[in-house]
Amino acid sequence: MSVLVITEQRDGAFRKVSYEALSEGKRVADALGVSLTAVVLGDGVEGIAAEAGKYGAEKILVADAPELREYTVDACTNVLAAIIEKEGPAAIIMGASVQGKELAARLAARLNAGLAMDCIDLRVDGGDLIATRPIYGGKVLAEVALSGAPQIAAIRPNAMTVTETAAAGVIETADVAVGETRIRFIEKTVDTGKADLTEADVIVSGGRGMGGEDFSALEEMAGLLDGAVGASRSAVDEGWRPHADQVGQTGKVVSPSLYIACGISGAIQHLAGMSSSRVIVAVNKDADAPIFAKADYGVVGDLFELVPAITEEVRKI
Ligand code: FAD
Repeated sequence: MSVLVITEQRDGAFRKVSYEALSEGKRVADALGVSLTAVVLGDGVEGIAAEAGKYGAEKILVADAPELREYTVDACTNVLAAIIEKEGPAAIIMGASVQGKELAARLAARLNAGLAMDCIDLRVDGGDLIATRPIYGGKVLAEVALSGAPQIAAIRPNAMTVTETAAAGVIETADVAVGETRIRFIEKTVDTGKADLTEADVIVSGGRGMGGEDFSALEEMAGLLDGAVGASRSAVDEGWRPHADQVGQTGKVVSPSLYIACGISGAIQHLAGMSSSRVIVAVNKDADAPIFAKADYGVVGDLFELVPAITEEVRKI
């Protein structure tokens, strides 16, 4: 028996959520008293496989095939379902990234498995895997237990601690065929130069209070903090920012170490996307804005004065 972690890589490098899934997988495997197996999918990914061992994987299964060069849900599902049927893991842990959410749902349907999506905590109780996941737009934290086997838990990016180990895993080839697929990859267009919001450690977001499409003050601050710029839906609806930047119920769910909300009132739909951030800072001219109830630090005042002043302080660090 093992805990199986499905890693995610892009262009031959693991995505951050893979390290989080491996570290959490190791903790769950230890609690269950079983070993940890990692799966690495792609084309020419053997070189990165050993890295999974540094996060606790005793066995690393590599599925390397030209058909897996670009992610398609049906090719990955075919390969992973075959691996899971062979390995018979006690639990499967993966990232609830955009790709991971699609894949987890497809795998659960294919394997008739229980699935807990967007988990922010996992624990083992009497041999059962218990997952904590936000529901009702983050207003309530639900603890759910999965029955039957296999059980799949998809973890929210940035929510779990990464722990390195001194161990090295054994790399094996996963001898499974991609099989018949109904999706053909044609082309991808990459928005270069922008940090991925769901993986960013720092997010500086702007709302309607920005008053227009000039987000340069936020971009400057985010640049200094090595972070990304996000937005409320109002800012997106106004056409000031692309939808890809939207944080919230109908945008991205983010859990950075630091979330700075500028000119955002703190509507429940926005909070649904960022309330699990480790530290929340709010800048708003209205002292009664609901965002202050969620914020760890609040600054009441005009963002057009405060943001450049904070940026200046950050520059001194
Ligand atoms: P407002 O609520 O208008 O707040 C602007 C804030 O800026 C105010 O608090 C004001 O005091 C402050 N301000 C103004 N000028 C300044 C200044 N110069 N300096 C400092 N502060 C200033 N919203 C999301 O964000 N994400 C979602 O995913 C989302 N999904 C939704 C889904 C549904 C089904 C629905 C119904 C709504 C959804 N919304 C979402 C919209 C949400 O309800 C709010 O309307 C929206 O979040 C408000 O955005 P805002 O805070 O930028 O604007």
